[in-house]
Amino acid sequence: MTNLAKSDQKNLRLCGIAASPGIVIAEVYLLDRQRVAVIEYQVGADAVDSEIELFENAVSQAKEQLIAVKENLSQKSLREHFYIIDTQLMILDDQMLHEATINLIKNKGLNASGALKRVLQQFRQTFDSIEDEYLRERGSDIEIAGERILRNIGGKEQPCISNLEQRSVVVAHDLSPADTLQLDKKKAVAFITDLGGRTSHTAILARSLEIPAVIGLENVTSRVYHGAVAIVDGCSGCIIINPCEKTIDQYLAKKKRYELYRQKLQEYCELPAQTSDGKQVSLKANIEFPGEAELAIHNGASGIGLLRTEFMYIARQQAPSEEDQFLEYSRIIQEVAPHSVTIRTLDVGGDKFVPNICLDDEANPAMGLRSVRLSLREMKLFRAQIRAILRASALGDVRILFPMISGVAEVRACRTIVNEVMDELKTEGVDFDPELDVGIMIETPSAVLVADLLASEVDFFSVGSNDLIQYCLAVDRGNEHVAYLYEPYHPAILRALFRVATAAELANIPACICGELASDPIYSALLIAMGYSELSMNSSGISRVKKLLRQWHSEDGKRLLESLLQLDTAAGVASAVAVEMKKYSPDFEPNVDFNLN
Ligand code: PEP
Ligand code: MG
Repeated sequence: MTNLAKSDQKNLRLCGIAASPGIVIAEVYLLDRQRVAVIEYQVGADAVDSEIELFENAVSQAKEQLIAVKENLSQKSLREHFYIIDTQLMILDDQMLHEATINLIKNKGLNASGALKRVLQQFRQTFDSIEDEYLRERGSDIEIAGERILRNIGGKEQPCISNLEQRSVVVAHDLSPADTLQLDKKKAVAFITDLGGRTSHTAILARSLEIPAVIGLENVTSRVYHGAVAIVDGCSGCIIINPCEKTIDQYLAKKKRYELYRQKLQEYCELPAQTSDGKQVSLKANIEFPGEAELAIHNGASGIGLLRTEFMYIARQQAPSEEDQFLEYSRIIQEVAPHSVTIRTLDVGGDKFVPNICLDDEANPAMGLRSVRLSLREMKLFRAQIRAILRASALGDVRILFPMISGVAEVRACRTIVNEVMDELKTEGVDFDPELDVGIMIETPSAVLVADLLASEVDFFSVGSNDLIQYCLAVDRGNEHVAYLYEPYHPAILRALFRVATAAELANIPACICGELASDPIYSALLIAMGYSELSMNSSGISRVKKLLRQWHSEDGKRLLESLLQLDTAAGVASAVAVEMKKYSPDFEPNVDFNLN
């Protein structure tokens, strides 16, 4: 499809997954990691030398860029990837490539990029005719090197999202959490992607950064072009490309309604979190970067229920030192005091790939060496983090949380390290809180099944419903193709959550939840009925949950839960909940954030 064909369609409406609410109208910045549009034309004899110079400078620049990437890789101890760059450097030095391009400029009077493009096409044809598959595939290495030279000739930046020139809707095949962290919120006002699911870490980050986003659109990158106007409706999960004036007006009105609604919710920030019959609930915030702590308290959080420490690792070239971590944790603890901060140990792997820490050759990373498994193998990293957390615990109310626990042995292994580090600090005369609570995330089916055994090993549970749903239902949380199967109201999930709360109650430890489910107002009432005393969520969801809980009677919650546990399908549960909610909270609209029509 050519750009022209793409641009012809007015009001092209595409629907995906509503990942982060908000409405934005802006021009598209298409993050195309490979192709450069090349126009071939004749240059005059007097311009031949300058075109050759342009080509040669672009090759030298490409080499410098690759050497810089190589240096960066060596800092990250990723030496095994050097060969990819070395291959590219060899291609840039290839005599045939040089001679053929320069000959076309000299003899045919072509411009530099037109000449290079022709040479690249000839190479492609030659490689395509090779029988050996491996050698045939090497043709793409030449294309990649060629694209780099072409970008340099055109003075185009190598694709990058951290320095956009104007307010843009970033359109990409996929964005990693690391890409998302680089987005400049003032310029990247929304993003849309082909891939992704609602609880992927990229989606979670978009909500934290309050960047409206629609993901899982499957083929949006092939349907839009640079500079097209796009409406992104992160409330409903739809986007409109090349909207007509009438559509723009409709969405401007919707944007106003959305902003008014968010403003009204602010009134709830200050009010106590309790049901209509006075049952107190602790609503806390999940945060991904230190800067969010203050905002969380402003949004009415009574503490940090989940500090995702991995984003400190993603944002740096190297793992943060013990001292770096201690300083970051200390700052957050002081900002949040007198409330508590639950610090989760490193939870990388799966879609949170961190190049200098995670293995990059795992066939099934979601079930691989990730999270606490990685920590227990990388003892130096693990001990440094625990030392930092323990030292920070001297400054306020701190809890430590271990992710992805699958059984009692892992908890004991973690506790042994905590005890050893405590002994070490004691010997060194360093302050820490010897009574700090140690908790685990319940996010694997095995942890649910042995919740009774785990409960006697720890001080609290925190359910990670994002992963728990993924692993219980065998549905990749980041895969748009199976997003329809990611059903929080699946009877298996209701039962699993109830089972965990019951095990916690019997062992007399608090049951908390920190997955995205906690921010669903309907679900929050059910969780409280199950016995969860602390719900931790993206802080922008707190006032919405508070609003609903204040209209809800806890006894009615228990009755509803009992009836839902008898139902056999997710759809049956969802519709029963919606009917009941309407009765008790007449102004309640299901998923109001995401459906402000
Ligand atoms: C979860 O899995 O629910 C959770 C809170 O952890 P994360 O989203 O960081 O995996
Ligand atoms: Mg998780």
